[in-house]
Amino acid sequence: MRIDWSQIETVLLDMDGTLLDLHFDHHFWCDYLPKVFAEERDWSLERSHAYLAPLFTQWAGTLKWYCVDNWSQYLGLDIMSLKRNVSERIAYRPKAQDFLRVCQRETGDVRMITNGHRKVLDLKIEITQIDQYFDQMICSHELNHPKEDQGFWHALQETVPFDPSRALFIDDSEAVLNSAADYGIGHIYSIARPDSKRERDQPSAFPMIEEFCE
Ligand SMILES: [Mg+2]
Repeated sequence: MRIDWSQIETVLLDMDGTLLDLHFDHHFWCDYLPKVFAEERDWSLERSHAYLAPLFTQWAGTLKWYCVDNWSQYLGLDIMSLKRNVSERIAYRPKAQDFLRVCQRETGDVRMITNGHRKVLDLKIEITQIDQYFDQMICSHELNHPKEDQGFWHALQETVPFDPSRALFIDDSEAVLNSAADYGIGHIYSIARPDSKRERDQPSAFPMIEEFCE
């Protein structure tokens, strides 16, 4: 798989699971948070998981799910300080920085578009200095729509206009990729292994990048 850079004017990149290893986020939400929440309430781990699971399902793909302030308030926990406790797990995916340098060299317009909250983005910048590779970094909260919604793409277009047909977009979420395709993004790729410690649940309908060295 090779990207034809002569066709690309704008690069739009997801962060978690695309440039950074999704292991940190999986570990935080599926292991660490349920454990801390159980301890806080003096519950069993099973009861904690049983309480959280319906919230994960109900809020999936919405700004509520991506909002750390919402979670802090709802669970009565300081989510950001908990994230800091396990921040040593924040790491680039293999060759991600090499790929980012190629994006910078080949186009003058490299943008991060993340559903992650700005507070989490700031923590990840602190650990990885990933901001050095981008002309623009957008958190979907700031556009009032998650990437799953068409409203996001229209709002993104209003920040700095771009030609969707000449845009490259890479993300590990199938719902988000479908949303990008609906909007008319011309070059769309998924990620074969967003979490270095887990297999993908199911293959993507979009071409999947195995390793950025391709
Ligand atoms: Mg992602």
